[in-house]
Amino acid sequence: MKTGTPVAAKILDGKALAQTIQAEIAAEVAEFVRNGAAPPTLAAVLVGEDPASQVYVRNKQRACERAGIESRMHRLPAETTQDELLQLIGELNDDDSVHGILVQLPLPEQIDEQQVLRAISPRKDVDAFHPENVGLMMQGQPRFLPCTPHGIQQLLVRSGIEIAGKHVVIIGRSDIVGKPMAVMMMQKSKGANATVTVCHSRTENLPEMAQTADILIVAIGRAKFVTADMVRPGATVIDVGMNRTDEGLSGDVDFEAVREVAGHITPVPGGVGPLTVSMLLYNTLEAARQQVGKRG
Ligand code: NAP
Repeated sequence: MKTGTPVAAKILDGKALAQTIQAEIAAEVAEFVRNGAAPPTLAAVLVGEDPASQVYVRNKQRACERAGIESRMHRLPAETTQDELLQLIGELNDDDSVHGILVQLPLPEQIDEQQVLRAISPRKDVDAFHPENVGLMMQGQPRFLPCTPHGIQQLLVRSGIEIAGKHVVIIGRSDIVGKPMAVMMMQKSKGANATVTVCHSRTENLPEMAQTADILIVAIGRAKFVTADMVRPGATVIDVGMNRTDEGLSGDVDFEAVREVAGHITPVPGGVGPLTVSMLLYNTLEAARQQVGKRG
């Protein structure tokens, strides 16, 4: 749309799509159980009292319940040692009634996060953070896909946004969002085949890079960092950021200004967040299926 009055971007409603996906998963869980399997079961481990982590874990548990997935909560005190946490993970790895294990991050500073994530059995690693699962994803043969990038891919595909051949610019290179998002978008597979650029805090000319994006995915943790002048008219803008500010929850994108330029945009809240939870449920069902298949 090059002439006339600018049209505000179409809002990509992640909350509504998450409900649709969760309903699909609930139907699949019901069928899985009807066929004689035990309900898929997720063990969630929360160490300490971080308020945001408590909210995230509670949301995940509630979503599990709605989908017929059993969730078991393991709350450990903030002073838990590395050995105590590793022992619990070992027990959950050996427990055949547990299909997925989720350790809520961040962990208290006395605990080595990488060592903990490596201790989770790759077959129960529903966050897909274990090096074996990261490697499989990299090679285009994923066992599980990491939840936030997978949710974003589902949102793009199900919203009919073309990815193949397009330029996807990702701002942020974390192991949880930016890096796996880049790997997934560049794969030679459905819902991918993009040309990908990854930007970070050392990128020169970041605004110019962002302007070249057909799809701009922002995951940096800086409120309203992406402004309207950084977005090509008609581009799709996916805002992963969740920043607590004096005005409430804010994304990494200046939503009100950018929506006047973009073709599609996700809100915060109600965009990427709910989809992350949906894909965790998806992975838990997938883990249960794989484990039943292996035993059967
Ligand atoms: P992270 O681990 O802190 O990584 C932030 C990334 O952003 C880093 O790669 C960093 O670059 C880059 N960055 C920081 N400031 C920058 C700047 N001024 N210009 C360019 N790049 C910059 O963050 P994360 O875990 O990916 O999370 C990012 C945001 O997404 C947070 O707000 C988080 O709460 C949110 N999040 C939301 C969900 C969801 O489900 N909605 C899930 C996960 C995360 P360097 O590598 O150079 O330091």
